Amino acid sequence: MIPVRLHAALDALSVAGLVLGPRAAGWPRNLSGPLAAAGAFVAAYSLATRYGEGSSGVLSLGEHRALDAMQGAGFCAAALNRRLPLEARVAMGGYGAFSLLAAALTDPGPEVRQVGRQLPLPQGAVRRRPGPGRTWQVAPGVHYLRLGIVNVAFLGEVGAGDRGWTLVDAGLPGSAGAIRRAAEALFGPGARPARILLTHGHFDHVGALETLAEVWDAPVLAHAAERPHLDGSRDYPPGDPSVGGGLMARAAPFYPTGPADVGARLSDLPADGTVPGLSGWRWIATPGHAPGHVSLWRAADRVLLAGDAVVTVRQEEAYAVARQRLELHGPPAYFTPDWEEARASARRLAALAPEVLLSGHGVPLGGPALRAGLGRLAREFDRIARPRGSRYDLHPDLR
Ligand SMILES: [Zn+2]
Ligand SMILES: [Zn+2]
Repeated sequence: MIPVRLHAALDALSVAGLVLGPRAAGWPRNLSGPLAAAGAFVAAYSLATRYGEGSSGVLSLGEHRALDAMQGAGFCAAALNRRLPLEARVAMGGYGAFSLLAAALTDPGPEVRQVGRQLPLPQGAVRRRPGPGRTWQVAPGVHYLRLGIVNVAFLGEVGAGDRGWTLVDAGLPGSAGAIRRAAEALFGPGARPARILLTHGHFDHVGALETLAEVWDAPVLAHAAERPHLDGSRDYPPGDPSVGGGLMARAAPFYPTGPADVGARLSDLPADGTVPGLSGWRWIATPGHAPGHVSLWRAADRVLLAGDAVVTVRQEEAYAVARQRLELHGPPAYFTPDWEEARASARRLAALAPEVLLSGHGVPLGGPALRAGLGRLAREFDRIARPRGSRYDLHPDLR
């Protein structure tokens, strides 16, 4: 393993080598120019990297290593170009291999102290099989579609037909077409849902809501405390970049917080925990990540849809999201204003001892590894999932 400090020194050496080496070797301008530009690129992303706990930068070490690897692969590919001088090809191939190795061998480092990798789970804990269209089946009558960074769930038997099923959450803006195609593959051509149920109203869960509610003429159900964020009356507090953990968190102040507006179709979930028209399922209050956040629970086979109360990928880091790296993880930290409530919610979910868990982000997990991990996440929530000194912990009045 390469220690983080050594990696930082190697980055500085690479920059010097790329900028000065080709000139010293007397290579032609049309070669030394692009290599110096590559050196400037390495310098830029190295300066933007958090190598240690104290340093500030927009890139986590994981994202930095992904750029190292891309850069290394680019150099290896360029070294195959027969029109280049042989010594340049050898040097570029060598440098490319060096970059790939540095990316692969660097210690994950102290970045993981803030919101880091939380509870890694084995691949054997994944619970899904391919379903119709681009969907995955999690349990009988429970499918989901991954829209890049976020999941939407479909409750209902395959072929259930018009008004025979329920949509849970409504994805990213622009995803209405993909959600409709998945619904038609699952339930039949033109099949509209009986209702749209929301775990909460964050932008990545209601992106296509207004469009879908309109074209399907469907009622929308959510917790009463979420209503101001769904009837156009109140913004969420801005995303908190201070939680750290990666690029997704750093970009959080720019995420939309404005309310969706489906007020005319919106109903509050009844206080008794039932979901009107949806037998076998109950909703469970899991606030903290959002004031009216709810999870859904089917006791018969212990299926839990947890929204963002707990997720199964490190949502703060773009690299981890792109790879959908497997872990049990507290709520996405940059959008979680109330950590006391978030902890109580995680404990409520762990106490259910689910057989299968589908979250708003990441792949579905199940079995004993899930239950053990969820129990530990709940017990040690503050140590594992809670960022230190986040803005909304320090300033509750800003929530
Ligand atoms: Zn959310
Ligand atoms: Zn989310």
